[in-house]
Amino acid sequence: MLESKALNWPTILFLTLSPIVALAGSIWWIASGSFHFLTLLLAVAMAFSTGLGITAGYHRYFAHRSFETIWPVRLLLLLFGGACFEGSAWEWCLDHRRHHRHIDEENDPYNIKKGFWHAHLLWLFTRPAMDSGQRHAPDLWRDPLVRFQHRLYLPLSLAVSFILPMAIAALWGDPWGGLFIAGALRLVVNQHFTFAINSVCHCLGRQTYSDAHSARDNWFTALLTYGEGYHNFHHEFPGDYRNGIRFYHWDPTKWMIRCLAGLKLAGNLNRVQTEVILLKKLALQEKKLAEKLAGQPRHVADFADRLLQSTKHQIHRAAEKLKELRAQYYTMTKQDHELAREKFREAKRQLRQALSEFQQTVALWESMARRLSKLMEVAGSASGGWTLPAEGRA
Ligand SMILES: [Zn+2]
Ligand SMILES: [Zn+2]
Repeated sequence: MLESKALNWPTILFLTLSPIVALAGSIWWIASGSFHFLTLLLAVAMAFSTGLGITAGYHRYFAHRSFETIWPVRLLLLLFGGACFEGSAWEWCLDHRRHHRHIDEENDPYNIKKGFWHAHLLWLFTRPAMDSGQRHAPDLWRDPLVRFQHRLYLPLSLAVSFILPMAIAALWGDPWGGLFIAGALRLVVNQHFTFAINSVCHCLGRQTYSDAHSARDNWFTALLTYGEGYHNFHHEFPGDYRNGIRFYHWDPTKWMIRCLAGLKLAGNLNRVQTEVILLKKLALQEKKLAEKLAGQPRHVADFADRLLQSTKHQIHRAAEKLKELRAQYYTMTKQDHELAREKFREAKRQLRQALSEFQQTVALWESMARRLSKLMEVAGSASGGWTLPAEGRA
């Protein structure tokens, strides 16, 4: 039960009334014959621009500093992120940094252990108002744009969230559609999609890199949250500008940051090295396999261990080689390119080859680990237990 004195009534009223207004407005819009296709397109464009304001702006730039960008881009990210009505960037980042520091603990503002709905929404109902900015997150408070957005949060957010889509939709004679569809409905849908990162991504999906916390990788949520669904990866490597690391992972936020970098509007994109990511994934798989092996007869465990160790040795050798080549490559990037161009190209080729060799050895280890794991599951379910081929016995 929530204590009445702790309730944040403006937030409660906003979060409960906005879906009602959005639904009633949408019904009226269709029933009155005001439907206009361009208004729908505007709603989608507004959903992406405000959603990316949160994911690329509030989250990956302001909270995690995973890239650098120029002030006009920062201003746009603040204006459009604010239009999601999730608080000012400064307030949002304080909560989010606390979430990373204290994940699944009492001090985690959206602690999933307090329940799905607490993590999704209810934590906001008792969220206290933030006090003076200077004492918290000084790196953020030093940014005049962050202070500007925090102080004028309400008028700026109202203007971008509602007045802007009304004004645009008025161009084709549908200002009320702009208000209800591209404004209110878009806002409610976007809010619940982004809230799902704190709720769904902490209880549904795969723990690919760590099982030490509740964060999970969930491709379906990534589809709705502009790429933020790969949340287990994000909690392990929060400084990486990507959440979906494979080229086919749906992560429009990553693509937007890359586009900004391509246009020279952003730079210093922080990216964790592939070998670091894969070794982390491997360590977790090894731990899970060891748990399964613990219940097997000694000779089975020894057989599996011998099988995997030789490949693991290759993986570490490949990782060392990769590290060495990478260091050489970065030294070359600082040298005079005219003199070192040929050597530079060769180093790049070697680096690519070493990375590919490393990935292949990891894939080989993973495939063996998967087969062994399956074998053990079969052996565990059969009452007769395991028998090994003669040459496999210790
Ligand atoms: Zn999280
Ligand atoms: Zn984060």
